[in-house]
Amino acid sequence: EQRDGDQPEFLQAVREVFETLEPVIAKHPEYEKAGVLERIVEPERVVKFRVAWTDDEGKVQVNRGYRVQFNSAIGPYKGGLRFHPTVNEGVIKFLGFEQILKNSLTTLPMGGGKGGSDFNPKGKSDAEVMRFCQAFMTELCRHIGQFTDVPAGDINVGGREIGYLFGQYKRIRDEYSGVLTGKGLEFGGSLARTEATGYGVCYYTQEALRVLKNDSFEGKTVVISGSGNVAIYAAQKAEQLGAKVVTVSDSNGYVYDPEGIKVDVVKQIKEVERGRIKEYAERVPSAEYHEGCSGVWTVPCDIALPCATQNEINEESAKALVANGCKVVVEGANMPSTPEAIAVYQQNGLLYGPAKAANAGGVAVSGLEMSQNSYRLSWTFEEVDAKLKNIMETIVAESLKAAKEYGHEGDLMLGANAAGFVKVANAMVAQGIL
Ligand code: NDP
Repeated sequence: EQRDGDQPEFLQAVREVFETLEPVIAKHPEYEKAGVLERIVEPERVVKFRVAWTDDEGKVQVNRGYRVQFNSAIGPYKGGLRFHPTVNEGVIKFLGFEQILKNSLTTLPMGGGKGGSDFNPKGKSDAEVMRFCQAFMTELCRHIGQFTDVPAGDINVGGREIGYLFGQYKRIRDEYSGVLTGKGLEFGGSLARTEATGYGVCYYTQEALRVLKNDSFEGKTVVISGSGNVAIYAAQKAEQLGAKVVTVSDSNGYVYDPEGIKVDVVKQIKEVERGRIKEYAERVPSAEYHEGCSGVWTVPCDIALPCATQNEINEESAKALVANGCKVVVEGANMPSTPEAIAVYQQNGLLYGPAKAANAGGVAVSGLEMSQNSYRLSWTFEEVDAKLKNIMETIVAESLKAAKEYGHEGDLMLGANAAGFVKVANAMVAQGIL
């Protein structure tokens, strides 16, 4: 805590995990002897670099780039790149730390990493985004590779950015390999990668509801925050599973559509026009727009799926959700609930699905993209989607198994942390003190 006192998000993520690991450590003295906890919170490597690029006016702009190579005990570093003005070393470390346990839960051989920049793509032209991505990759390419570290997308890093990054890697290294995931379908991308995180959140929710409550999405009212990659496909799948999604949001405000969000309209605004969610209410007569993104948690619902960003649900928002009848919170975004919000869910007996388990579908399909690249073939949408569904159901089962083993039956948070951790810890012990 002393060493990383200026990194509040990282400390929050570590504290949450360590509190739930007490019964695991008590049962495994070998972890303590091998210093696993002390070692797992220290990244194997942090790369921090200058990204200089030229804007459309010819002015030089300078941003900061990061890649945190956190843990390679069970596979090459794997995790997304985030481009957002709030990015700093502590934010990337929190995301990288979560990624270690998340990747372990997917059952695939991937270590934990994360990266990004404080670059703000909002309002930038395509040419500016391209020049930024090329400058970013010019440095990053020395540190990554298909067998060492395989980045992907995250906030503000989608198909366009991955394309520019891949092109620059190929140009400098003269190598055509699966060094990034989330690639275009024409150059090594996997079908269902775009949908994977959002669909995975819903497969996880559906399975947890079935096992723990003998229930499903059918007939439920769902509140979703965000309107990016995760939110759009969570909304689409929840609707396919029989629910009515009544909200989506961005950092300015939220739309409420009592007739059910029309996902095609959201996709047109966000994916094609790169516009603001306010425009939804201008096009769909049944919808209302409200300024302020946290108001979305005051909308009555059965199920809430936060899919925007960290700490978007605080204690007050959690209490509003409970007061309005919400019984289920499953996290699409990383660490969207503050510790106080999680306490509210637990005190009120909500079904709570933590991010590192519920949103693991994205990185799982990234792992499947790596497999397809290695085989030099591509699977059909149905094949990838079936594997994704199976992985999400396995994550629910493994989490519940671990929760039971460590004396907290039904606790999906403790179960996810324990199941993810044990595999990494065993590998760290087996590989010696590094
Ligand atoms: P996108 O960039 O596609 O969308 C992000 C959405 O969240 C936008 O609607 C954005 O609104 C909103 N948002 C971002 N920052 C804030 C903020 N500070 N306050 C309020 N709203 C905000 O990103 P993704 O959908 O890919 O990512 C969303 C979350 O899911 C993140 O936590 C990410 O780490 C997590 N995640 C993503 C995965 C993936 O495969 N993409 C995999 C696993 C987790 P605005 O346009 O106004 O910024």
